[in-house]
Amino acid sequence: MEFATFADRAGTIEAEPADLEIVAHVRDLLADAGSDSEGRRAPEAAVEPQTLEVVARFVQGRVFPAWDSRTLDIGPSACYEGIARAAGTNVDADDVEERLAEMGEIGDVAASYEFGGQQGLGAFTGGGDASAGSGGNGGDLTVREVYDTLEELAAAEGSGSQDRKVDLLFGLFNRCASEEARYLARLVLSEMRIGVGEGTVRDAIAEAFDVPGDRVERALQVSNDYGQVARIAQEDGVDGLDAMDLEIGRPVQAMLAQAGTVTDALEEWEEVGVEWKYDGARVQLHHVPGGSGATGESTAETRVFSRNMEDVTEALPEVVEFAERTLEEPAILDGEVVAVDDDGTPLPFQEVLKRFRRKHDVAKAREDVTVRPVFFDCLHAGGADLLEEPLTARHDRLRSVLVGSDSDARDDEDIEGLSLLWRTDDPDEIESIDADALEAGHEGIMLKDPDSTYSPGRRGKHWRKRKPDVETIDCVVTGAEWGEGRRATFLGTFELSIRAGDGELETVGKVATGITDEKLAELTELLEPHIAAEEGQAVDLEPAVVFEVGYEEIQSSPTYSSGYALRFPRFQAVRPDKGPEDADTLERLERLRG
Ligand code: AMP
Repeated sequence: MEFATFADRAGTIEAEPADLEIVAHVRDLLADAGSDSEGRRAPEAAVEPQTLEVVARFVQGRVFPAWDSRTLDIGPSACYEGIARAAGTNVDADDVEERLAEMGEIGDVAASYEFGGQQGLGAFTGGGDASAGSGGNGGDLTVREVYDTLEELAAAEGSGSQDRKVDLLFGLFNRCASEEARYLARLVLSEMRIGVGEGTVRDAIAEAFDVPGDRVERALQVSNDYGQVARIAQEDGVDGLDAMDLEIGRPVQAMLAQAGTVTDALEEWEEVGVEWKYDGARVQLHHVPGGSGATGESTAETRVFSRNMEDVTEALPEVVEFAERTLEEPAILDGEVVAVDDDGTPLPFQEVLKRFRRKHDVAKAREDVTVRPVFFDCLHAGGADLLEEPLTARHDRLRSVLVGSDSDARDDEDIEGLSLLWRTDDPDEIESIDADALEAGHEGIMLKDPDSTYSPGRRGKHWRKRKPDVETIDCVVTGAEWGEGRRATFLGTFELSIRAGDGELETVGKVATGITDEKLAELTELLEPHIAAEEGQAVDLEPAVVFEVGYEEIQSSPTYSSGYALRFPRFQAVRPDKGPEDADTLERLERLRG
């Protein structure tokens, strides 16, 4: 397919306001990209299969599949330079920028120049022969040639690579008529903006090659490559799509979570799967175990991908070492890397970021911040894809992969890299898991439907992160307990009270944590002068300090003297501006309860 044809169709799509019509246009474009000049399709006709793959991606403004970590790595100024050089000797990158300021969009700018006929090194090295075609501008450039040149451009690295990239772009623009230049410029800068999203291409593939949309969707989930899916749909139909599997080394989109409450989860699911929510960065580990090579080195293959499917393997040697040490079968695991201090206590998310995409001085960075992987899901193990399995089965498989042949009945807590999964319908148990998570320095809890399958890329209701508290109440701290072990010198587990109508303070709950050691030290210093009585670990406090506390629900409860209990209370802040007489009242509590 000629690039001019692609550009022409892109123009039609861009001008089309109706979604259904857009799908029809993309459908026709794909069908044509996969046919020969007489309209015959593969496998009958010998069509060049890559053209269809490329068109299915270009139409979304993508050059490479989503899983592919290659990028063009070209900034706007290099693109302006390529345009300027192809536009003639009296145009420079500043002129292009000026036109951009006037016109507002790079496609319009590129389309406003007359290209062609520029001789020079770039015109030849760029794979474009400037003397070919009448007058040089437009008509003979194919989609495939554009892709091959962009692939070469992406591969250019090292010194002089930016010049090489500009040369290659110049070579391409120099062969473009104005509409081709419009869409080439947008493609290069990832600003296609013709209204074609992922759903459009999915529907268009289904229509073009007469295959069911849900099977296209599944194939996209396992492959993350619209090009490959379009080609297989065309060549092998639904059987071909169904035969597509996950591949180790090719990342899958991560399943995502919605915000939600424990209350809703308990209502909707028979049992709730509860996990700690780690405050780190998402990682997907792909591993094929190896033996040792000729010189004793490991021949295992390990790749680590970020939530956006970027390859972050080099930045996280601890994860690679973990895989080599632990995994004995091929696997794809989903989890989080957390930064930890020397005792293994989690550090804030910012610390992970210092490591996450680091390309240089990784060994040095590793001395400053150590990361540790924790896995909560298993997408593939020992040759079998597990996306369609329920969470509990995937978690069991995760456990067995992490335990490997060292399978003495070990407690889950002792399995390195395993995130625990509890199943319960008991709100008190969930509350105590939440408190433990916070206590251990994590972010809180995730609630998961134990029967749910893994839906890549979906922010579905099967995974929920506990919503941040919307309302808070100001409570007087009337008691506390001395901690244990490392926290023996800190007060914790604070008793909370509110004001009743008669001015008396009535208890409404206890807030255990959500509080770092540093904060606990601060709170201890603040509260210690107000200790009125002590018995064992418990202390009574004179009403003096007010905490702002978040919660999920207010329940009636015989446990506390107010007659109510805060469900899932969380410490938010001290209110130094408030005294006990400014704390919230029973009346407000009743109003909030509704
Ligand atoms: P958020 O980034 O706030 O949307 O929360 C979702 C993110 O929490 C996920 O993408 C993961 O990176 C992270 N996370 C931490 N612990 C878990 C867990 N146990 N299960 C799933 N995701 C988790």
